[in-house]
Amino acid sequence: MSTLLEVRDVKTYFYTMKGVVKAVDGISFKLNKGEVLGIAGESGCGKSTLAYTIMRLVPPPGKIVGGEIIMEGKNILKLSEEEFRKQYRWKKISMVFQGAMNALNPVYTVGFQIAEAIMYHEGLSKREAMARVYKLLQLVGIDPKRAHSYPHELSGGMKQRVMIAMALALNPPLVIADEPTTALDVVVQAQVMNVLKKLQRELKMSIIMITHDLSLIAEIADKIAVLYAGKLVEFGTAEQIFLNPQHPYTRGLINSIPRLRGDIKKLEWIPGLPPDLSNPPPGCRFHPRCKYRMDICSKEEPPVVEVEPGHYVACWLHAKK
Ligand code: SF4
Repeated sequence: MSTLLEVRDVKTYFYTMKGVVKAVDGISFKLNKGEVLGIAGESGCGKSTLAYTIMRLVPPPGKIVGGEIIMEGKNILKLSEEEFRKQYRWKKISMVFQGAMNALNPVYTVGFQIAEAIMYHEGLSKREAMARVYKLLQLVGIDPKRAHSYPHELSGGMKQRVMIAMALALNPPLVIADEPTTALDVVVQAQVMNVLKKLQRELKMSIIMITHDLSLIAEIADKIAVLYAGKLVEFGTAEQIFLNPQHPYTRGLINSIPRLRGDIKKLEWIPGLPPDLSNPPPGCRFHPRCKYRMDICSKEEPPVVEVEPGHYVACWLHAKK
């Protein structure tokens, strides 16, 4: 499989009155064409900031201060805002925002709102754009007649599917979905995930799926990246992460997922809270919460080690000093 996107040592910091918040602090990974990458971690671990960094939509006082993001051989962080907007944003990388269904404009029909983006970017007539809107709605499992509905006439799940249709409007090879099912009940959540899974197979696009809920991406992700306090702590195939997790934080996340089959086990939790990123702990940022911590853990940052082909872990339990 060939690489679609390569994130190299990317850093995004927020310059606040309290100090510099290192929300994304040296993250690297590769995403192949047609692959689904799940990015998981607790709230505040930097996963949404990473998504906004790839879209180059980091709000002030945030700033991308380092690293490269390579797509089609170009470092997209080096392009001017105008070049990126014309050539990449929505055309090649689009995004389904967190709670995006509430972002629909209440005074326009949903069909018009999707068509507007198509007309703006591709210069099509309204009739041509609407023809594509009908197809897109069908693709996400909505009756095309609903194109003429206003947002308040649709359920939460339908609005979220409209937002997915909007993200697909220009047929991008990469869609970033930032907690796309957060505000939905579990049944609708499953429907939206099934729509994404079906689209990914049919359109062969790549998806970066951001979630705080590892169990949600178990079925859809090919690879999983686990983030903690702005750092990537584990990366591997979904199988490697679920069946052979190596980082104590990943194990904690997996052990806190309720199981439906097998022996009934008491759920575990990770004690403590994620650190304040304006003043993170030295060494391994997870050390104040880790039951395996050693002396070195609070002094030096653990290097990233490949523990089996394609499976990377940043933990002193696996590194040689
Ligand atoms: Fe725990 Fe040390 Fe590994 Fe960090 S480096 S996860 S503190 S064992």
